[in-house]
Amino acid sequence: MCTSAEIDMLSNVPILLYHSIAPFELSGVWIPKMRFEKQIRWLFKNHFSCIKPQKLFVDDPPPRPVVITFDDGYDNFYENGLPVLLKYGFTATIFVVSHYVGKTNTWDAGVTRRTHMGWDKLREFPGLGFEIASHTDTHSDLTKLSRKEVRRELEFSKKTIEDKIGKPVEFLSYPFGRHSKFVRDCAKELGYTACFSSNPFSRDRWAIGRMGVYIIDTMKEYRVKVHPQNKSLYKLEGIKTNVINSVSIGTPVWKSLIEKTIGNDEVWS
Ligand SMILES: [Zn+2]
Repeated sequence: MCTSAEIDMLSNVPILLYHSIAPFELSGVWIPKMRFEKQIRWLFKNHFSCIKPQKLFVDDPPPRPVVITFDDGYDNFYENGLPVLLKYGFTATIFVVSHYVGKTNTWDAGVTRRTHMGWDKLREFPGLGFEIASHTDTHSDLTKLSRKEVRRELEFSKKTIEDKIGKPVEFLSYPFGRHSKFVRDCAKELGYTACFSSNPFSRDRWAIGRMGVYIIDTMKEYRVKVHPQNKSLYKLEGIKTNVINSVSIGTPVWKSLIEKTIGNDEVWS
């Protein structure tokens, strides 16, 4: 359960969710570097302070806080996202899929193949003030796994990243935003500080809501995404984000169908 102060904080601090920053992709979850820079420059000029997730649970947040998160830990973040954030003195929390570090995203049914950052790059982030966190071990839909498998995904990824990075892993984001009571309880029991979902309306410490940023967003819509206090417009943006998320939730289903039709090796190697 959240305290009322936590619910107030989670309701008023914008928490953004990005995935891929690339020149072009056949997917809905990318934005070009120039657009990303425009958004971060706008936050900078409007005096937003980028905070780490730990600050969501303290009493003295800075004025105009914002949390920036990246799911999946793609290599294109290192090339295109990191330089922009450093230029404006911002940081981010990067959720890493431990089994796929340094490998291609074969867990995704999308047409676009992306590489994940390797451990050498990930090790640089804590020194730059960035947070490295878990996005599980294999990016599976946790609600479809056995209890033993869920525990393994959460425990093994946490331990692997901690061993490789040399820093505690406090936060988890759920692949495809999917979670259940058992999944949330398991995260709590394994010592995570809090977990993140992709539903912008969630106000639970174990499924903190995030607002996705996508290629279709205009600058006007982006400004709404960082103003949860503007409840009616924020709600519309949240509904749009949930519609886009519902497509990504179908990813495991699409992947399984394609594998059954064409064969695993041909599609994913
Ligand atoms: Zn993901």
